[in-house]
Amino acid sequence: MAAPRDQFCSAEAELNEGSQCSSGIEMVPPSDTAASAPLCPHGPTLLFVKVSQGKEETRRFYACSACRDRKDCNFFQWEDEKLSEARLAAREAHNQRCRPPLSRMQCVERYLKFIELPLTQRKFCQRCQQLLLPDDWGEHREHQVVGDVSVTQLRRPSQLLYPLENKKTNAQYLFADRSCQFLIDLLSTLGFRRVLCVGTPRLHELIRLTAPGDKKSNMRSLLLDIDFRYSQFYMEDSFCHYNMFNHHFFDGKDALEVCRAFLQEDKGEGVILVTDPPFGGLVEPLAVTFKKLTAMWKEGQSQDESHKELPIFWIFPYFFESRICQFFPSFRMLDYQVDYDNHALYKHGKKGRKQSPVRIFTNIPLNKIILPTEEGYRFCPLCQRYVSPENQHCEHCDSCTSKDGRKWNHCFLCKKCVKPSWVHCSVCNRCALPGHSCEGPEDGCFICGELGHKRSSCPNIGAAKRPDKAVRKQKQRKSNKRKMRPLKDNP
Ligand code: SAH
Ligand code: ZN
Ligand code: ZN
Ligand code: ZN
Ligand code: ZN
Repeated sequence: MAAPRDQFCSAEAELNEGSQCSSGIEMVPPSDTAASAPLCPHGPTLLFVKVSQGKEETRRFYACSACRDRKDCNFFQWEDEKLSEARLAAREAHNQRCRPPLSRMQCVERYLKFIELPLTQRKFCQRCQQLLLPDDWGEHREHQVVGDVSVTQLRRPSQLLYPLENKKTNAQYLFADRSCQFLIDLLSTLGFRRVLCVGTPRLHELIRLTAPGDKKSNMRSLLLDIDFRYSQFYMEDSFCHYNMFNHHFFDGKDALEVCRAFLQEDKGEGVILVTDPPFGGLVEPLAVTFKKLTAMWKEGQSQDESHKELPIFWIFPYFFESRICQFFPSFRMLDYQVDYDNHALYKHGKKGRKQSPVRIFTNIPLNKIILPTEEGYRFCPLCQRYVSPENQHCEHCDSCTSKDGRKWNHCFLCKKCVKPSWVHCSVCNRCALPGHSCEGPEDGCFICGELGHKRSSCPNIGAAKRPDKAVRKQKQRKSNKRKMRPLKDNP
């Protein structure tokens, strides 16, 4: 997950306003486009369309699937653009140059040599984020180098490597021990024997670390991650360099087969996909990917089991609930709050734990999942699931309604529970933050009555009574500026 504070707030604010995003960038579902998508260093690009005022613009374009900042990958191509041979060749050369310095095979060979070295010769360069063999020492003489890299350190690469925190691409936020241990215990209690870790390097290493003899030790794990630094620490059967926004295996068919075999082993029994994507990313391409992984798992099953779903834990902020459930209607959200190590927003505050907005979405029935009572979670017999300490069962809604862990209040006018900070607004005819600007009711635009946009971005504005043109333009510019930020440099 990506978790810059501003991103939280803007995503959340958007949802709190009850408005759909009426302007922004949307992915064009890939069914008819996947084959022809041009390649950037991060694999096949995705086809996007700019949406403004609720309307799609006609000219669609390809952009990088993985990087939400053009500084990280500046690929851009109109869908109907014809490129010269020279430009295609230059692009190909650029893609080659961006490949990791060592091949997957070379990494494995180096790793095998490295573990044979005596402790005193095992060095790690912090600047280059690389395990060094004696031949490399000279080159890194001037760099900050860690010596005596122990087996324990080798088994915990997420502690040796620094987290890549750049929000718009890697957004590497590592689980706090508390959360990681909880996940491992839960997976093992649920009887899983294989865990496909997609973007969860710390969970992966902790699963592998669990001492033999321990009841959890019969779990195996395969890590798929875009961070190729991890390929130094794992053999081919436990790490694949992978892009989860386009289901791309950087090391080709062999890596894909590793993943397939892992999913299909034991006729697909006992395997779960656990993922913690950067949540600055779009939900749709992730959903497409998880459906592809599900399909891969299903290939290995007999016909009569075709209704079954691959068990999934998708770790993401609670305010994406409706978006995730749109793609995976069987998913439910757990109240458990996931904590991170290198994230100020979630670190334990002075008064115990801060609230984390990150949750687990899953297709495993919630009544099978026990949350830690020592942290205050309790079982609600009416809802048949564990809930947070403050989440109270509302007799009117007949459910434990809090999403954010605070106690929510029932509003009789809205006929639902709302956040404790909200009050009922008679102008908007719904609950909202006090001091909000009354822009329009949740259930439709003031001007045309349609859902999904507010009057400031009403596409029918020309047909209705025109507000002053200049003011309208200004508002438009403002709202574009706010909503277009993720890909602001695109035309
Ligand atoms: N909480 C997890 C880490 C989540 S951070 C843990 O502790 O194990 C997000 C992870 O997703 C990072 O490891 C990052 O490298 C990876 N990631 C980011 N973009 C990705 C992409 N496009 N494809 C695959 N992995 C990606
Ligand atoms: Zn790219
Ligand atoms: Zn209620
Ligand atoms: Zn209300
Ligand atoms: Zn209002």
